[in-house]
Amino acid sequence: MAKKAKSIQNIKGMPDILPSVSGQWQYLEKTLADMMAGYGYREIRMPIVESTDLFKRSIGEVTDIVEKEMYTFSDRNNESLTLRPEGTAGCVRAALQNGLLDNQAQQRLWYQGPMFRYEKPQKGRQRQFNQMGVETFGIATPDIDAELITIAWRFLQKLGLTEHVKLEINSIGSLDARNAFKAALVEYLSVFKDDLDEDSQRRLDSNPLRILDSKSEKTQAILVNAPDLHDFLDDESKQDFQQLCQMLDAVDIRYTVNNRLVRGLDYYNKTVFEWVTTDLGAQGTICAGGRYDSLVEQLGGKSVPAVGFAMGVERLNLLLDTVNPIQNDPQQVDVYFIISGDNATVRQAMVMAENLRQAMPQLKMISHCGGGSFKSQMKKADKSGAKIALIAGSDEVEKSEVSIKPLRGEFGEGQKTVAVQDLASLLTSMLSDK
Ligand code: ATP
Ligand code: MG
Repeated sequence: MAKKAKSIQNIKGMPDILPSVSGQWQYLEKTLADMMAGYGYREIRMPIVESTDLFKRSIGEVTDIVEKEMYTFSDRNNESLTLRPEGTAGCVRAALQNGLLDNQAQQRLWYQGPMFRYEKPQKGRQRQFNQMGVETFGIATPDIDAELITIAWRFLQKLGLTEHVKLEINSIGSLDARNAFKAALVEYLSVFKDDLDEDSQRRLDSNPLRILDSKSEKTQAILVNAPDLHDFLDDESKQDFQQLCQMLDAVDIRYTVNNRLVRGLDYYNKTVFEWVTTDLGAQGTICAGGRYDSLVEQLGGKSVPAVGFAMGVERLNLLLDTVNPIQNDPQQVDVYFIISGDNATVRQAMVMAENLRQAMPQLKMISHCGGGSFKSQMKKADKSGAKIALIAGSDEVEKSEVSIKPLRGEFGEGQKTVAVQDLASLLTSMLSDK
């Protein structure tokens, strides 16, 4: 006897999104697409694989992502490729390469899709995860920063999540200001070097700003008396930040200024922000963004100001599951079409079903396939969650009729038989205003 083959499992940290939950994903995606259209943003779709250099040059060699999280491999031509760990780099690359930034054009773009990072999988942290990202180019003033934060807020509001998230904002200033601060921070922390956590000791040389993010209590205690970034900010950054705060006040968006917020990636300047929740344990950041005025130039273009953000879709879904599960399932069917009879009956019923779909383009209907008794089909109809069953047996089909049976109280009682030509209008009225 042949041995049963060992089944193959998914890759750790790269879960399936099953039909039972994909409805909520579709709802999120549609809500985002509608919202972005409302603000005049256009969708861009970038490849999932890019040259490794793109991420090294943009994200920065000494960041967590580039140092230890990238899925990098050689293709058959020995070119080093990387599964994108985030969307901004690819978006800038695509915009530059295709002339979207030429002639001082302004661009408002959005995208969504899978990202890949080799991390320790846990709740809200995966190796393949999805981001919804928004990027704008060519606008240097803080009105666009405020617009982006407003969009994120409206989106969260639409999902019923605004009570469960907090907005933190900060300005990390110009590159010069940041370098001056960095030097002062290193000088201060060097005295305590041996007391810092291991990661922070390493970062003291490579990426000292990240130490501000440290989760170690001991390190945080040392940081209490560290120099304050705000004392180093250049005037322009200060003014822009003040304006941003005033604009957020004007549209009633509440925020906290967190002067420890620096963001993990190298390319940010001036405004940085995060939406955080306390409902998801350690993986609390659901949306993060900021200004990155030097990135386009760093990737070979002219200097083009830019600002954007990315939301983690898994974390959004987790938060929705905990506080506000989406009831509206776009995949829910309205009608289950029961077809019971010989081949001729099945053929005629198929024609009926197709005509009905033409007459009712919004209708969501499963046509039964695979035969079986009326009773077993009825069970499937119930299980499908449909509101109404249509029944075509040989008697009905012969007379160009079909029976209608509501499966849930609010769609009527009892079974009735109608002529096929009246079916669409009757079904339409039964399904409307429910
Ligand atoms: P974290 O500090 O949680 O690792 P990050 O700073 O690395 O986040 P960003 O690069 O700013 O994250 O990505 C934007 C958003 O994408 C995050 O706020 C989060 O919601 C989501 N995200 C990032 N990494 C993951 C992951 N491994 N799994 C699921 N979601 C993620
Ligand atoms: Mg990370």
